[in-house]
Amino acid sequence: MSNESVDKGLTKTRRGVFSRITRMMTAKRKIDEDLLEELEEILISGDVGVDTTLHLIDHIRKRVKKEGYETSDEMYAIIRQEVQDLLIAPPHQEISEKPFVMLVVGVNGTGKTTSIAKLGYHYKQLGKSVLLAAADTFRAAAIEQLDLWGERIGCEVIKHQSGSDPAAVVFDAIQAAKARQTDYLIIDTAGRLHTKVNLMNELQKIRRVIERQIPDAPHEVVLVLDAGNGQNAISQAKQFIESVQTDTIFLTKLDGTAKGGAVLSIKQKLGIPVKYIGVGEKMDDMELFDPQSFVQSLFLKE
Ligand code: GDP
Ligand code: MG
Repeated sequence: MSNESVDKGLTKTRRGVFSRITRMMTAKRKIDEDLLEELEEILISGDVGVDTTLHLIDHIRKRVKKEGYETSDEMYAIIRQEVQDLLIAPPHQEISEKPFVMLVVGVNGTGKTTSIAKLGYHYKQLGKSVLLAAADTFRAAAIEQLDLWGERIGCEVIKHQSGSDPAAVVFDAIQAAKARQTDYLIIDTAGRLHTKVNLMNELQKIRRVIERQIPDAPHEVVLVLDAGNGQNAISQAKQFIESVQTDTIFLTKLDGTAKGGAVLSIKQKLGIPVKYIGVGEKMDDMELFDPQSFVQSLFLKE
């Protein structure tokens, strides 16, 4: 069930943190407070987050006592299981309405535009029609970047001039997607404006424009987070989620960081499922998140 590109994408996280756990567990050490403390320290150093680490250690300690384990190799399976329990399986949505509208939000530089290209490419590969909307009108470069991706993956991009009203771009994009019966409309948004309040107001306005034309839309609001920010990405997400209703998370740049353990605290801290992960800069460097194969990759022996 393990997946090669996830294995590769998680190399740094695995080498930095999880292979230490694997070594510790397979060494048949006696289970005592020292061992649990060491495990705790490894998890915290891997940006799993203090609360989540304590929660995990607490569960493991109770199970060791109850189930009577004595050496670390016996504990290995329960660690993997407890880690998997920290992850939420993403929803499996069947697209029932055309267009299926995806609104993509997140701070600048987290990888929004690249991730939109990956999503577009993914759906194109499945034989679906995809339209992209360049509603990050704050910077001219952002429109050009999406346009270039659109060309590469063979998707039309609805755009206006830079500085124009993003809600108007979204309005046009929805009209176009409805008229053409497009399967997916994926909307890029700004990640920074003059102030945070401006940004949140703009995202709410975009949402209203979408809802007015398609009452059930947006069908999925995707928050893009950079895994390299570790626990900071989680605090950043909290701020976004407070103002913008969010359905799923696209976690990017797992390939470039040893802080992938931050994924483990997402359920406890945010309660929103990671649905997509980014493991590189190319259009096919995206995977649908699967808790089981993710845990398998984390604990892969190499
Ligand atoms: P935006 O400002 O949120 O739209 O971010 P961009 O899409 O422009 O991406 C910012 C940078 O992150 C670019 O250099 C991307 O190539 C890079 N990037 C995005 N996703 C990934 C990923 O999964 N892995 C790696 N290594 N780089 C990524
Ligand atoms: Mg962008």
